Amino acid sequence: MGNIKDYAICTLGSHTALQILKGAKDEGIRAIAVCQKGQEDIYKHFGVADEIILVDSFKNFFEIEDKLVKANAIMIPHGSFVSYLGWQKVQDIKVMHYGSKGILEWESDRVKERDWLKAAGLKLPRLFKSPEDIDCPVIIKFHGAKGGKGYFIAKSTKEFYERIKEYPGEEGYVIQEYVVGVPVYTHYFYSLINEELEVMSFDKRYESNADSIGRIASKDQMEAGIRTSYTIVGNIPIVVRESLLPEIFKMGRNVVTESRKLIDYKTGKPISKGLYGSFCLEAIVDPELNFNVFEISARIVAGTNPFINGSPYTWLRYNEPMSTGRRIARDIKQAIEMDKLDLILG
Ligand code: ADP
Repeated sequence: MGNIKDYAICTLGSHTALQILKGAKDEGIRAIAVCQKGQEDIYKHFGVADEIILVDSFKNFFEIEDKLVKANAIMIPHGSFVSYLGWQKVQDIKVMHYGSKGILEWESDRVKERDWLKAAGLKLPRLFKSPEDIDCPVIIKFHGAKGGKGYFIAKSTKEFYERIKEYPGEEGYVIQEYVVGVPVYTHYFYSLINEELEVMSFDKRYESNADSIGRIASKDQMEAGIRTSYTIVGNIPIVVRESLLPEIFKMGRNVVTESRKLIDYKTGKPISKGLYGSFCLEAIVDPELNFNVFEISARIVAGTNPFINGSPYTWLRYNEPMSTGRRIARDIKQAIEMDKLDLILG
C-alpha cells in the first residue's frame, strides 16, 4: 500500500490555491505552493503551504519543475495554470499531473467544446455564422477577450454593424444567442476511483459592471453611455431548486461519458480516461428551466472558492467540511493507498 507521506500536492499560488493547499493538508498530504515573487505573503498568512517555491513569473514554471519532480509532487491544474502555460505547454510537463491533459485542448477551443457538449445532448445557445442571420438578441464574444471584457450585445444586424466599429483591432469573434435568464455554474466532481459523479456546489459570478448597472435607472444608463462589461470580481454561492438536481446530474454524467470519445491530438486516439476530477458547466437557466450551457471548464473553477468549508451538498454527503480542493486531495490519497495512482494521473 502506497504511503501519502511519500508525495506532495502542488499548485500555483493563485485562483483556487488556498482551498487546494488546505485540502491537501486536511487529508494529510504535504502542500507546495509555487508563488510569483511578491504574492507569497497570502499563502504564508493563511498557513496553507508546507513549502513555498518562488518564481519571477508563472511563465517560468519550467525552471522550477525539477524541484517538484524531486518532491514527488502531483500538480493540480487550475484556471491560472492553464492560462499562464497554455494548454499546449501543459502537455509537456514532467511533474505528475492530476487530470487528463488531452481534455484541455477541447475546453480551450470554442468549436471543439461545442461539439463535445452537443454530443452530450446539452442545450446550447444558438450560434450565428453571419451577422446577416441575427434574428434575436445576441452576445458577441471576441476570441482574445479575457474575462468577458469587451463583449457586446446587439439586437439586429444593423446594430451589430454599428457596434462592431468600436472594436477595430479585434480579429475573431462568435455571435451567440443572448439567453435571457439567470447564470448557474455547476461544480461537478467525477472520481475514477469510485466511478461516481458528485455535485459539489453552485455559484454565480459577481461581475463589474454588469452586476451594478441595474442600480441606476435605464434613462441614466443611456445618458451616461455605459457599456456592459463582465470583469469577474468574485463569486456568489447559490442553491438550486431541488427538482432541478436530477437533470443536473444527468448533464454531468453525459458530459463525462462523451468525453471518453474525444480524440487526443497527440496520439490521434480517444482520451480513454476522459474527463475526471473537478469540472464545471456554465449555463444560463431560462424561465422554462432549460440549462443553456455556454461553456465547460475541465478543471477546478474559482466559483468553488466560497465553499472552503463545504457546501450544503457536500455537507449532505460527507458530514464533514469538504471543499473541491479537499475532494481532489482525497481522490489522490485513495489512489495512493490503493496503489492506483496511475489511474488518476494524466
Ligand atoms: P469568460 O468565460 O470569457 O469570462 P463568459 O463566456 O463566461 O466569459 O461570459 C461572460 C458573461 O456573459 C457571463 O456573465 C455570462 O453569464 C454571460 N453570458 C455568456 N454567454 C451568454 C449567453 N449566450 N447568453 C447570456 N449571457 C451570456
